[in-house]
Amino acid sequence: MIFDIAVIGAGMAGASLAAELAPHARVLLIEGEDAPGYHATGRSAAFWEECYGGPAIVPLTRASGPYLADHGFLTDRGALYIGRAEDRAATDAFCARYAGTGVRIERLAPGALRERVPQLSPEWSEALHQPACADIDVAGLHQHYLSLARARGAVLATRARVAGLSREGGAWTIATTRGQTWRAGMIVNAAGAWADEIAQAAGAAPIGIAPFRRTVIALRVAPQPPADLPLVLDINGTFYFKPDAGRLWLSPHDEVPSAPCDAVPEELDVAIAVDRFTKVTDWRIEAVERRWAGLRSFAPDRLPVYGFDTQVERFFWFAGQGGFGIQTAPAAARLGAQLLLGQGRDPMIAGIDPAAYSPARFARELQSV
Ligand SMILES: Cc1cc2nc3c(=O)[nH]c(=O)nc-3n(C[C@H](O)[C@H](O)[C@H](O)COP(=O)(O)OP(=O)(O)OC[C@H]3O[C@@H](n4cnc5c(N)ncnc54)[C@H](O)[C@@H]3O)c2cc1C
Repeated sequence: MIFDIAVIGAGMAGASLAAELAPHARVLLIEGEDAPGYHATGRSAAFWEECYGGPAIVPLTRASGPYLADHGFLTDRGALYIGRAEDRAATDAFCARYAGTGVRIERLAPGALRERVPQLSPEWSEALHQPACADIDVAGLHQHYLSLARARGAVLATRARVAGLSREGGAWTIATTRGQTWRAGMIVNAAGAWADEIAQAAGAAPIGIAPFRRTVIALRVAPQPPADLPLVLDINGTFYFKPDAGRLWLSPHDEVPSAPCDAVPEELDVAIAVDRFTKVTDWRIEAVERRWAGLRSFAPDRLPVYGFDTQVERFFWFAGQGGFGIQTAPAAARLGAQLLLGQGRDPMIAGIDPAAYSPARFARELQSV
């Protein structure tokens, strides 16, 4: 059987796009691991935070919100960006940066901050509240898209690491390290940290999608954090924490360049996380119960890359989802499918300008050098 479209990578990006494409085409979804979701998708901090990723990501995040809420994948959390007195300029700049984006941000008085996070050290007095922030059921969303793709006729192949891509006439031949081969009319590159490698295998120029390691640890603390504690983020980006099932998830907001790999947490990053946390709150750490790391992959301008390659025909990029690939998945997948199929925009993504995310922006940069 020749497939119309082969999507490489069955993380959130590939699964969601396959689900959107499957009603219109014969889709093959190819995953190198035993189970989809093993890499970045299975390691996220699971929040939907309207500002995360910067103003150019806000339209994708906000357009995804109703889909996520309507399907029951969001639970109210709220977020607080916090700072000390000397961070007033940083909080002002944050508010100015998001003015006009539609994001709701409210400044909290120090007393109100203390009420929400009683364990904070007194010098943390600045707080910006984002009431709309929510937890995402990441595994539920990923399974939703995988099930939807299958129900709509897509075929999922796991333990199928793509090693070779060649094109003859109108069809690509896809070969895996275990000797499987398939044919497809079009390739979608949803390979996360490996996106540039897949591009090179297809003869396309790499865009410079760079993976960066991010660490999260799960802490048992005393007193136990309240279930309704908001997501708390440092305005200067040196930590965030949130409650999960009686524990605290804490990240030192690290961003360490990495080769594409099965990322593991480094002791140093765990120690940095603990050190920062103990300086910021008076929670007593009883145990670091879990630790994990994952790769967040960014294009050079830190915006995602959705669209056809400018040089290699029938090769579509769906990569560079950075730290926002879960919260933007519904709108990104809808946009990706409509760009790939040459369809008009539907109401969910009507307000989104795809030019900002097009691979053509890198081709233009190369020409102007
Ligand atoms: C610690 C951490 C916290 C995060 N927190 C959040 C958050 O709170 N909210 C949010 O929205 N986002 C968050 N993110 C980002 C989010 O997890 C990613 O943007 C998203 O998971 C990217 O999905 P993906 O499908 O592109 O990548 P992946 O999930 O990495 O999927 C890519 C897949 O491609 C497969 N693949 C690669 N090469 C090949 C090949 N040659 N052949 C076959 N298959 C191949 C891989 O095996 C992998 O399964 C976080 C990320 C990390 C690491």
